[in-house]
Amino acid sequence: MSVSSRDALRAALLYGLLSVFWLQLTDHLLNSYFDDSAQLAHWQRVNGYVFALFSAVIIFFARGRLLGFLGAGAGLKRQRLDQERLRQAAVVFDCTREGVLVSDSRGAIVHVNRALVEITGYPVEEVLGRRPNMFKSGRHGPAFYEAMFKSLQESGNWHGEIWNRRKSGEVYPQWQTVRAITDGNGQVSHYVAVFSDISAIKNSQTELARLVHHDPLTDLPNRLLFTDRTEQALAYSQRQQCGCALLLIDLDHFKIINDSLGHNVGDLLLKAVADRLHRVFGKGFTVARLGGDEFGVLIESCGQVSQAAALAQQVLELMKGAFDIDRHQLFISASVGISVFPSDALNAEQLLRNADSALFKAKSAGREGYALYTEELTAHAQYRIEVASDLRRALEQQELRVYYQPVHDLQTSRLIGVEALVRWQHPLRGLVSPGEFIPIAERTGLIAEIDAWVLEQACWQMCQWQAAGVELSFVAVNISSRLFARPELYRLVSTVLADTGLNPQLLELEVTESAVMDNSQVALEQMHRLRALGLRLAIDDFGTGFSSLLRLKQMPVQKLKIDQGFVAGLPEDNDDVAIVRAVIALAQSMGLQVHAEGIEQVEQAQFLLDFNCNLGQGYWFGRPMPAKELDWQRAPVIRA
Ligand code: C2E
Ligand code: MG
Ligand code: MG
Repeated sequence: MSVSSRDALRAALLYGLLSVFWLQLTDHLLNSYFDDSAQLAHWQRVNGYVFALFSAVIIFFARGRLLGFLGAGAGLKRQRLDQERLRQAAVVFDCTREGVLVSDSRGAIVHVNRALVEITGYPVEEVLGRRPNMFKSGRHGPAFYEAMFKSLQESGNWHGEIWNRRKSGEVYPQWQTVRAITDGNGQVSHYVAVFSDISAIKNSQTELARLVHHDPLTDLPNRLLFTDRTEQALAYSQRQQCGCALLLIDLDHFKIINDSLGHNVGDLLLKAVADRLHRVFGKGFTVARLGGDEFGVLIESCGQVSQAAALAQQVLELMKGAFDIDRHQLFISASVGISVFPSDALNAEQLLRNADSALFKAKSAGREGYALYTEELTAHAQYRIEVASDLRRALEQQELRVYYQPVHDLQTSRLIGVEALVRWQHPLRGLVSPGEFIPIAERTGLIAEIDAWVLEQACWQMCQWQAAGVELSFVAVNISSRLFARPELYRLVSTVLADTGLNPQLLELEVTESAVMDNSQVALEQMHRLRALGLRLAIDDFGTGFSSLLRLKQMPVQKLKIDQGFVAGLPEDNDDVAIVRAVIALAQSMGLQVHAEGIEQVEQAQFLLDFNCNLGQGYWFGRPMPAKELDWQRAPVIRA
């Protein structure tokens, strides 16, 4: 029971007792005083009135006290509830993770919570009495704060993102709500600001934006951002009527590094290349990684093609120094394609595509160089398309021919083998050399058909020579690197051998160094399967690729063919001499035959013979020719 109701009960009991006592007492006194019953009844009535009047007086006063009692009780209850609510609010105020700041109508801070201290780094005593502008970061101009105060005046609240400064000096973003508190008269008495630190959210948003636009490995802009910047640069160049250029850089034979040393080393090399490019192309350029081993450089305000070409040359020079990566000293070259605005293209997509065509031109021209996209190149592309469709027709119309070039034993000078080389007997252009159409056939996929046809022809021809009693040790057939790793090659070779009945030991397949190194695991398996058929394998143009000696050792090859580029310098060029001697020594130490191609002079043949090269091929011995023109008896004298 509450205090007030207990008091009221006590008062009622007291009143009841007093009433009983009064009535007993007065009744007893009146009975003993009056004998006359009429008089007694009169005084008993008077006594009743007096009692009623007395009670009314008592009740009148008691009512005031009672209401007082009851009023005090309700007030106390309200007070207790208020206290409880305040206590809860204080706990929330102190435990909330949002910072809370209360300032009075003049702006002086009167109260802050623990979260504010944690977020801002200021202790309470350094904040109280000061103004909230102590947290200003300087990031927002006066217009920002004016809009905030206007909103507070008009609607009594404001919310939004605001950048403030911590005690440490660090600027950070917070999401803040400010509310004006009014008193009973509608006057603003306080402002309450509640805010949360959103730097973590902001950081993840920034990181996300970075990931969308940057290459995670090198941290360079990616293709998306690069294309966007190119578009902007073109729009700017159009307005300013100035030029702009795009360099597309592709690392030569990067795949070999990846395959032989692993992707970790490959990644580190890409990072190192990105660093070099970034260092050379500072401000005013955008260097991007467009994917794989391809980089792009956007050169703004580049009026002259020669300026772009000079920068491309700089890129080539830049690559020349060794890259020290993970205890390896690596060397890598690059090819660069250049496309210029507005002469080559009018939009970003076209500029990129044309730079890509120029890059292809640079690669086709032997890599480690740059090429420009010009009208001439467009004409070249059109020519390629025409040749491709013409070549399809040539296959159907049987316009291809196989020529055979003799291969001689250098010790005896005897003709001991031939290399099958394809030609195109064009109805209008005459005899077209494979250098003109093989690369196009490789790009269009026609190469598989061509190589299959040449292989079949060469095997039939060899069978015929065998039947005619010609003593030949081998017929060599070139297999394109595009075809080498493919499973159909094995099926093709075994079918042709079965169909022609040729002794597999008389067939030699020539593959280029890059074909066996580019996809070394697949190539290795292919080589073993082909070897199991009983044929022989030779590595063509040896010395022009990036052979890993370790890989070479694992390969089931029987012959290395020294590229004619090295033979051309013999016997004067010291570098060529050193390379040729090294290749011969390498082949001998690995138990392989060594075969030199491109011998045009007797001195070259003599030099090779002196250094124990086994086989020789070249114009000095004989040019490639139709089968029936071969002179089996020819044995030119190397040493008189
Ligand atoms: P390769 O396999 O290295 O063939 C040797 C090339 O050197 C031939 O050029 C040959 O004519 C040329 N050559 C031979 N002796 C000399 C010489 O003393 N001096 C000079 N300057 N050159 C000499 P060709 O016939 O024009 O073939 C070029 C390339 O085309 C071949 O290089 C080979 O990679 C490719 N090729 C030829 N026929 C085929 C084929 O049937 N299939 C495939 N995939 N590629 C082929
Ligand atoms: Mg060859
Ligand atoms: Mg060759």
